[in-house]
Amino acid sequence: MDLTIVIESEASSAAQEAVEEVLAEHGLDSVDVRRAYIRESGDPLPWLALILINGTTFTLATFFQEAIKAAAQEAGKEGWRVIRDLVEALTTRRQAQEGRPGSVTLRFEQSEVEIPMDSGLSEVAFRRMGELRNPSAPLSGTLRWDESTGQWVDSLKGRFICDEPACTEFATTSRIVSNGQKSTRIMLCDQHDSDLQPTEDH
Ligand SMILES: [Zn+2]
Repeated sequence: MDLTIVIESEASSAAQEAVEEVLAEHGLDSVDVRRAYIRESGDPLPWLALILINGTTFTLATFFQEAIKAAAQEAGKEGWRVIRDLVEALTTRRQAQEGRPGSVTLRFEQSEVEIPMDSGLSEVAFRRMGELRNPSAPLSGTLRWDESTGQWVDSLKGRFICDEPACTEFATTSRIVSNGQKSTRIMLCDQHDSDLQPTEDH
């Protein structure tokens, strides 16, 4: 399992040790913890913990299975509980230590998709997360839990209309287009996005 946890670069060594302790308590003591997330601010910012998941054929399910294996003392525990308990423990420990709120985020390095671990995520949300294959969020880069449909969806899904003139469909993909020196980000529906792609089979 290629798993790394990155916390803010200004975090103390005590904060790093606390994260390592939480991981060890969950049977994940081989996970690398780095103080490497660089931000600049004169004021204290919320703490953060990014759980980086690497691997070309990686899925959350694999992560859960590996986490279960590693967490031998938690034998019989379902996969989604492993990640939920880990996120809860990280949040509790860091919040107590820093005295201010922060956030835990899962990040899939390969697909560049992030899942913010909002507090109060339901059991169903964690279960569905465990079933995700190749998470994808071409519009926003992040997934959010949609309680009404019971699915993890692109955070911006259903929020913006396609940028193609006169199109009234919801945008599903964000792309950078450039003409000359100028690059612009546009949002497109499925149809207009596929129109933009070079066609090889015609
Ligand atoms: Zn369109």
